[in-house]
Amino acid sequence: MTMTRQDCLALDARDELAPLRDLFDLPDDTPEAVIYLDGNSLGALPRATAARVQQVAAAEWGRDLIKSWNTAGWIDLPQRIGDKIASLLGAGPGELIVADSTSVNLFKALSAALDLAQRDTPGRKRIVSERFNFPTDLYIAESLARQRGFELVLAEADEIPALIDDRLAVLMLTHVNYRSGRMHRMEATNLAVHAAGALVVWDLAHSAGAVPVNLKGSGPRAGAADFAVGCGYKYLNGGPGAPAFVWVHPTITARMDAEQLWQPLSGWLGHAAPFQFTPDYHPAAGIGRFICGTPPVLSLAALECGVDTMLAAEAHGGQPALRRKSIALSELFIALVEARCAGHGLTLQTPRDAAQRGSQASFARADGGYPIMQALIARGVIGDFRAPDILRFGFTPLYTRFIDVWDAVEHLVQVLQTGEWQQARFNQRAAVT
Ligand SMILES: *Cc1c(COP(=O)(O)O)cnc(C)c1O
Repeated sequence: MTMTRQDCLALDARDELAPLRDLFDLPDDTPEAVIYLDGNSLGALPRATAARVQQVAAAEWGRDLIKSWNTAGWIDLPQRIGDKIASLLGAGPGELIVADSTSVNLFKALSAALDLAQRDTPGRKRIVSERFNFPTDLYIAESLARQRGFELVLAEADEIPALIDDRLAVLMLTHVNYRSGRMHRMEATNLAVHAAGALVVWDLAHSAGAVPVNLKGSGPRAGAADFAVGCGYKYLNGGPGAPAFVWVHPTITARMDAEQLWQPLSGWLGHAAPFQFTPDYHPAAGIGRFICGTPPVLSLAALECGVDTMLAAEAHGGQPALRRKSIALSELFIALVEARCAGHGLTLQTPRDAAQRGSQASFARADGGYPIMQALIARGVIGDFRAPDILRFGFTPLYTRFIDVWDAVEHLVQVLQTGEWQQARFNQRAAVT
């Protein structure tokens, strides 16, 4: 590794996306300055957010009160922000809505997928997913499998293709794995699942805003996804607990319209005419039925500012530029760690082939990486730890610089060489890791 710190500064100076860092209110030039490599867990605060939330609170809520549902367009926020997110994911307007949490949206989407599977392929009882999928996805699938008489089959990522057969009802995958950062081939998977007569549900929690996604595929319908959900507070920078999103292919929502299919959380705002206040439920057309209750307006205002930071990248090379930089950052990090931390027991968990990698790099350390991450955080380098043994570092091309990667690895080298991670204070587990 012949790279130097000077070279990293030169890469930053040439970076076409560099101006976007200024869209974020990062604690630079303060005693709390950090190197933030955790935008895959909680995106950074956009500069626009605080003023926008203040405006919504003071003017729209405080002054205009309930009129703002109409006059400030509050009621349209789930669709309006949904259209913006759709544009980042190769989906069309009116196909995606913002609502609830990722877990709840997955419940709605997977349940709707199981309804379709029960109609089309009644003998099929299998939901297949990845054993190391994010736990909430597995717990939701487990619950639905129990309620609906399906069997949840879990396998290693490499074993999934062999399970796409005539026993499969629904394949439910997270596009980029939260631990390993491994990315599935979405279009090839969609084609295989559809050739087997089954349906596919994607979780884009670590993809939306991080890697190019094309939900509708590049060719025929068979290459497109059926359902997708994703997260607002990771790479979309929507703020802690930001609402999530759900997308359904328009051929499927059209079918749900024609066959009067519901999603299971049939709340009033997913009704075709909520303000008629009728006692019986008639789902709204299209994606609208995936709304359940009243949208969280303050959180949506913050989310929109986050999504706008992604859209701002369009003027700086857009998704291809973001992907190029994301790969360059993770390649640099991996190369520096392997060259400078050799002999310290760190093994790369993320695919070496950048085409199979999301926007993160993970290293395992057999005797537990938790205190190492705590020592790094004490030095101002924020990544996170994922049990049992993963040190995870996320790269957000909107605001991560090459110099951050260099300096983060320098701190890691020092933590390992001095053994400072062995101090007792770094071994106390916090509630959130
Ligand atoms: C972050 C994440 C979630 C989060 O779900 P919440 O309902 O927001 O807590 C779900 N699935 C995956 C794959 C994630 O990475």
